[in-house]
Amino acid sequence: MDLYEYQAKEIFAKHGVPTQSGEVVTDPEAARAAAERIGGMVVVKAQVKTGGRGKAGGVKLAKSPEEAQARAADILGLDIKGHIVGKVLITGASDIEQEYYASFLVDRANRTYLAMASVEGGMDIEQLAVERPEALARILVDALEGVTPSKAAEIADAAGFPGEVRDQVIEVLQKLWTVFMAEDATLVEVNPLVRDPQGQVLALDGKVSLDGNADFRHPEHAALEDAADADPLEAAARAKDLNYVKLDGEVGIIGNGAGLVMSTLDVVAYAGEEFGGVKPANFLDIGGGASAQVMADGLEIILSDPSVRSVFVNVFGGITACDEVANGIVQAIELIAQHGKTIDKPLVVRLDGNNAELGRSILQTAALSGVSLEDTMDGAARRAAELAAAAK
Ligand code: GDP
Ligand code: MN
Repeated sequence: MDLYEYQAKEIFAKHGVPTQSGEVVTDPEAARAAAERIGGMVVVKAQVKTGGRGKAGGVKLAKSPEEAQARAADILGLDIKGHIVGKVLITGASDIEQEYYASFLVDRANRTYLAMASVEGGMDIEQLAVERPEALARILVDALEGVTPSKAAEIADAAGFPGEVRDQVIEVLQKLWTVFMAEDATLVEVNPLVRDPQGQVLALDGKVSLDGNADFRHPEHAALEDAADADPLEAAARAKDLNYVKLDGEVGIIGNGAGLVMSTLDVVAYAGEEFGGVKPANFLDIGGGASAQVMADGLEIILSDPSVRSVFVNVFGGITACDEVANGIVQAIELIAQHGKTIDKPLVVRLDGNNAELGRSILQTAALSGVSLEDTMDGAARRAAELAAAAK
C-alpha cells in the first residue's frame, strides 16, 4: 500500500526523521484557517498517490492565509496523472539552500535491500538515473546488518554529501532505515531532502510503500487505508480472501491458478477485439482446491460488478478434479440463489484436465439456465466476448 505524503511524514516524525508536519484539509476555507494557525509562509500540497505534483501545479507557496485559500482552490479538484486531488496538505514553507535525495528499497534483482542517495535531488530521480547515473549512489544493504553508522557513512560519502551536512545525513539515513524496517516498508523515499539556510537537513517530501504481507504485524496500518480510494469490489474480495483485481472490461473471469487466469485475460482480450474491443473485467484466481463456497464467493463478487456482461469460468482440473469443480459451480449457483440473488448474466464454462468428461456431464445434467459449456479455452473466450458484446 502506498501512503500519502502527509501519512509518510507522520511516520517519519514518529521515528525521529526531521520533517515539517502540517494540516490536511479538503476545502479552501479550511486551508485558510490552517495557514493562519501555522503562520507565515506556507506551502499548499496536493495529496495524491503519484509523483511529479510540483510540475503538475500541485505544489504552491502562499504568503498569507488568503493566498493559501486561493491556492487550495486552484489545487483541489486538479487532475494529476488521473488522480483527482481531494485533499491538500498545508505546511510551513522551508527556505531551500540545497535539494538532496535519499531512499531505501527492496532490490529484487540483487535479492537484498538498496540505498540510493544523491546531492542532486528535487528533480525526477528516474531522469537523473538515466541522464547522470554517476550522480546517484547505489549501495546494497545487507538485511541482517542493516544501516549501521558506518553503513550510513558509506552511503553519504558515496553520494558526496558535503562535510557541513554529513553528520546530519548519516543520522537521517539511519532513521529512514528504522522507518523502513520497523514499518515493514518496501520503499522509503525522500525527494527532496533539503538543507535550509540555517544548515538544517529535513525531509520536505516523503514516499512510503508498506508491505501488505506484513499487515498482520501492524494492526495500526489498517487506519492508513483510504476507504475512498479503495475499490469496493476489491475490498469485498479481500474480506473473503480472494485474489481479485478489478479491471475495466466487461467479461468477468474466474480461473484456478494465477498462470491460467493471466493467460485467460490475454485470450479474452484477443477474442474481444473482434467484438468491438470487449475486455476482461477482472482477475480472479480461486486457487487449486477450490470449494463450492470459494466458487460462490467468486461468482458473487463478479456478478455484483455492474460492468460485467458475461462470465468466463476457466478451470483446468488437477488435484481438484473437474467433477468437483462442476459440483462446486452447481452448489455455488444454489448458494447464490439462497442469498436471494439470481444469475442474470450468461456464464461460459470451460473444463479441461482431470475428470473433464465427468465434470461436463455434471453441468449438462444440472442444465443450469444461462450456463453454457465450451470445449476449448479459445472457443469459450470467443463465446464469452460475443455474449458480452451482445449484452451491451
Ligand atoms: P513532487 O513534485 O510530487 O515530488 O512534490 P514535492 O513535495 O517534492 O515538491 C516539489 C517541489 O516543490 C520541491 O522539489 C521543492 O522545490 C518545492 N517545494 C516543496 N515544499 C517547499 C517548501 O516548503 N519551500 C520551498 N521553497 N519549496 C518547496
Ligand atoms: Mn518530491
